[in-house]
Amino acid sequence: MREYLKFYIDGQWVDPVEAKTSNVINPATEEVSGRISMASLADVEKAVAAARKAFAGWSQTTREQRLELLLAIQAEYAKRQNEIGEAITEEMGAPNALGCGFHIGLGGGHIATAIEALKTFPFEELRGQTMIRREPIGVCAMITPWNWPMNQVAVKVLPALATGCTMVLKPPQLAPYSAQIFAEVLDKAGVPKGVFNMLQGSGAVVGAALSAHPQVDLVSITGSEAVGVEIARAAAPTVKRVCQELGGKSAFIVLDDADMAKNVAGATGGMMINSGQTCSAGSRLLVPKKRMAEAIAAAKEAAAAVTVGDPKGNFAMGPVVSKNQFNEVQRYIEIGIKEGAELIAGGPGRPDGIGKGYFCKPTVFANVDNKMVIAREEVFGPVLVIIGYDDIDDAIAIANDSDFGLAGYVNGIDGEQCNAVAKRMRTGWISINGGFDFNAPFGGMKRSGNGREWGEFGFHEYVEIKAMLGYAPAPQA
Ligand code: NAP
Ligand code: MG
Repeated sequence: MREYLKFYIDGQWVDPVEAKTSNVINPATEEVSGRISMASLADVEKAVAAARKAFAGWSQTTREQRLELLLAIQAEYAKRQNEIGEAITEEMGAPNALGCGFHIGLGGGHIATAIEALKTFPFEELRGQTMIRREPIGVCAMITPWNWPMNQVAVKVLPALATGCTMVLKPPQLAPYSAQIFAEVLDKAGVPKGVFNMLQGSGAVVGAALSAHPQVDLVSITGSEAVGVEIARAAAPTVKRVCQELGGKSAFIVLDDADMAKNVAGATGGMMINSGQTCSAGSRLLVPKKRMAEAIAAAKEAAAAVTVGDPKGNFAMGPVVSKNQFNEVQRYIEIGIKEGAELIAGGPGRPDGIGKGYFCKPTVFANVDNKMVIAREEVFGPVLVIIGYDDIDDAIAIANDSDFGLAGYVNGIDGEQCNAVAKRMRTGWISINGGFDFNAPFGGMKRSGNGREWGEFGFHEYVEIKAMLGYAPAPQA
């Protein structure tokens, strides 16, 4: 049993003002795995006050001082990363190889890219006689989801620290452990008091209070569209900056010249990673209509090859995060069947032989119409839909016919054609033939939000621009 009952405020582990706790459930066993404290408004006041007080000093530190801190965080993170990976397996059910692999690798990757970006970030830039300064925006509230918990914490905290901001983090109730260990990492690395603060608790109480707080200058949310909208509403009266990293229903286009079997298998397996709980998942697979039969055969085989079971064991896929999430996935599978999509793999219920835990079947629907609910709404589970297209124009039209615009994937042999297709897709992040880059900006268009995180681009969210005219002496006549 894990007991994380203290909050990190002003450089100390402190008791909550009011004692109130909540159980954390292990999604693989449905049993209680630990407890956290639930913050009240009084705790929010303490944390924001600490961050406000620390801003005066931290905002005036040098690049070198902040670099030294980031390097200390990197060293401390390396020592604790396997513990963090195990916590992720316990809190949200990622298979151990994934928790101690890609999950913690993303955290480490963001630390490393922040270090590199900080070395050269243009905090000051002289243009003619005008000095353009990029100054830390102030006190930042960070509200994170449970699906890639370490990734989302690192991708906010590191650029905020690097640019001289102070902050209050509110991790998800469903996955609070990895954030708790990360806070221990920051403490050990010597983050000055008040610069980083963390409260555990509910979005409805803590998240809402942070979003509305007059002493908070920026709120960064990664989460659902509904919550992103709520936060923007709460933030509006105080005119704070709102950075939204929301959901997606991203298209994975396989072009006609591609090896269909190989690409469909890759897209199907990719969809099931993290039980499909990835905002940027390629959840709409677009294949040429005339090759639908080929795609179906490959997807069936690939879905059947995805083993499901105990995340501490040697399986490709664990459970989804919670009972609610399990019920949501089941609801969408039922909708897909009712809408007349062709169920070619998986389906309702738990996989055979599993009687407990929030395990779903790797599910694939084929011959899906893009107008169907399962093609329009984010399932956030291991459910792939395959949609046929007539030609490239049709593929692009289908891909762009979505309220979301987070990610996209284009695979094909002809690189120029892939690039041309990618240019016409209305999304913020596109991977061509498996491209991946920690330094590329990550974020969405349309209802997927307005933020851009990762690498140097993430720094821009946390800075204000100041123009100082007449900074440089006028050239002699
Ligand atoms: P969620 O329900 O929107 O929750 C996200 C966070 O917001 C949690 O910490 C939650 O607190 C908090 N929250 C809830 N209500 C709030 C309110 N009224 N005010 C302030 N904060 C509030 O999302 P989720 O279910 O955890 O995560 C899944 C969603 O995140 C999906 O839509 C996914 O696509 C999206 N996502 C996007 C990205 C991206 O980078 N674009 C990355 C990953 C995930 P609780 O702990 O109380 O729930
Ligand atoms: Mg939720």
